[in-house]
Amino acid sequence: MKKFSNGKIVKVSGPLVIAEGMRDADMFDVVRVSDLGLIGEIIEMHGDRASIQVYEETAGLGPGEPVLSTGAPLSVELAPGLVGEIFDGIQRPLERIRDIAGNNIPRGIQADVLDRSRQWDFVPTVQPGDEIAAGDILGTVQETPLIEHRVMVPHGVRGTVTEVLPGARTIVEPVVRIRTPEGESSDLAMLQRWPVRRGRPYAEKITPRGPMITGQRAIDTFFPIARGGTAAIPGPFGSGKTVIQHQLAKWSDVDLVVYIGCGERGNEMTDVLMEFPELKDPKSGESLMKRTVLIANTSDMPVAAREASIYTGITIAEYFRDMGYNVAIMADSTSRWAEALREMSGRLEEMPGEEGYPAYLGSRLAQFYERAGHVRCVATEHREGTLTAIGAVSPPGGDLSDPVAQATLRIVKVFWGLDSSLAYKRHFPAINWLTSYSLYADRVDDWMDANVSPEWHVLHAEAIRLLQEEAELEEIVKLVGLDSLSPLDQFKLEAARSLREDYLQQDSFDDVDTYASLDKKLGMLQLVMEYYRQGILALERGVAVRTLIALPVRDLVARLKFVPEERFQAAAKDIRDAYLEQFRSEQQGVK
Ligand code: ADP
Ligand code: MG
Repeated sequence: MKKFSNGKIVKVSGPLVIAEGMRDADMFDVVRVSDLGLIGEIIEMHGDRASIQVYEETAGLGPGEPVLSTGAPLSVELAPGLVGEIFDGIQRPLERIRDIAGNNIPRGIQADVLDRSRQWDFVPTVQPGDEIAAGDILGTVQETPLIEHRVMVPHGVRGTVTEVLPGARTIVEPVVRIRTPEGESSDLAMLQRWPVRRGRPYAEKITPRGPMITGQRAIDTFFPIARGGTAAIPGPFGSGKTVIQHQLAKWSDVDLVVYIGCGERGNEMTDVLMEFPELKDPKSGESLMKRTVLIANTSDMPVAAREASIYTGITIAEYFRDMGYNVAIMADSTSRWAEALREMSGRLEEMPGEEGYPAYLGSRLAQFYERAGHVRCVATEHREGTLTAIGAVSPPGGDLSDPVAQATLRIVKVFWGLDSSLAYKRHFPAINWLTSYSLYADRVDDWMDANVSPEWHVLHAEAIRLLQEEAELEEIVKLVGLDSLSPLDQFKLEAARSLREDYLQQDSFDDVDTYASLDKKLGMLQLVMEYYRQGILALERGVAVRTLIALPVRDLVARLKFVPEERFQAAAKDIRDAYLEQFRSEQQGVK
């Protein structure tokens, strides 16, 4: 049995508390500070002196007050009841606390993380006599209409099932009884815990294959992310990072989303809370909150808990991955998280690295993103799950030489670089198509060729090439003017404009345009690129550039994005017919 240290505060510096008499405590133990019982975590030990990161406001605390170690690391509770909840950075249930205590969270408040009284209908998938080991599924609970919670054998447990207890159970009541290899009887309940700073184990990492479809044209077509992949969205203030993160949380084709509002404005989380319950999952028609877990540590909340929030979030995400689900986690913003890290490091008087960030900034960021991946789960049966991680990065002034941006870019495989000049021109999403990249693009193109259309990678390559040519031509236009360009080059500029405006630009706030299916994306891109191909042929036959620019069908192409999915194929056919007719009649006019 571990001894609990009883120490005393010697110094308080913002969220950092130094305590003596902590010899029996361990690094990373959770402690209760002062008679208020504020929650903290030991982040440094020297002899019997502990440096404690306190997750609540420390104003008014002083030397001599007691510090009690709980002997356990910072952990999350994992069981039915997570989905649809909103937690703070150390998994305190914000809505339930509000119900108990009103709007101002009192310090040191103790509330169960997950509801202990609610009963869930446990449907066993094992029977007496079964041999079970870590990760095996004991049974299921329909947690929400969208999530079947798979109750797993906790890590470190194995044995033979002796009894199953189906039906209405709380998360702390036994649902399965086993005999351990030592011959002892042991009760398994649905609730388990996991220390947040340790990645949950998996059997094997697998190279990510298929894409996570986001419904966002610029992303899915040009810079796709694989399920199990990692991406960063760097951009200056107002360039649309939060809007993209919200779009991904809403529309990504995953089973579960963990959304972390980390140090950003509180009203953005309120937006999510107001909007998500109203929005319907495109596949099931159910409310999106029924597949979402929210973690909120906004700018008005204690800064230290912000540091913990991304670990809390990713541990919950891993737990659902372990059930065999496709999970995505968004953190907005990792820069605000890094600021919390910098503040603690400064108070600990550590040797500062670049711009005052600690030298371990890069390794901490890597530890977060490394927990993403496509894995074979720990279990007797074969089961795979994916965890896709996307972080917003908000460097001051959008400057990518910032240490957080640099460290992130060394780790992630997808870079959606947001551009203030695009945002200023109201080209949204303001993803710069010349600087952004996805290291999954080749593999995703293969997947698209096999699953959407064999034409996909050709379309993709042609479109990218056209945008690059546009950039080169614009340099020339700046020097010598538009008139000096050949008709073909002038037409390329026009086709590129169509690609940007009619295809890449996507209005998140339009009910239809906010999401485009793969079929719609394919159809739109085909038509935009078809205009380019047909136009080149028409030019060769002597049709004037200005005639091509003025073709009446182009209005239809521009409005295609606002055509709902169910009418899309008919609208696309109308455009193809109009192309045939209008290009043909212009060419006849030349003869
Ligand atoms: P950031 O998080 O980078 O500071 P936001 O995500 O809050 O920026 O976006 C700023 C504003 O830009 C939004 O309030 C919205 O008006 C506009 N915006 C961003 N992305 C889009 C989009 N895809 N469609 C329409 N408007 C957008
Ligand atoms: Mg933002």
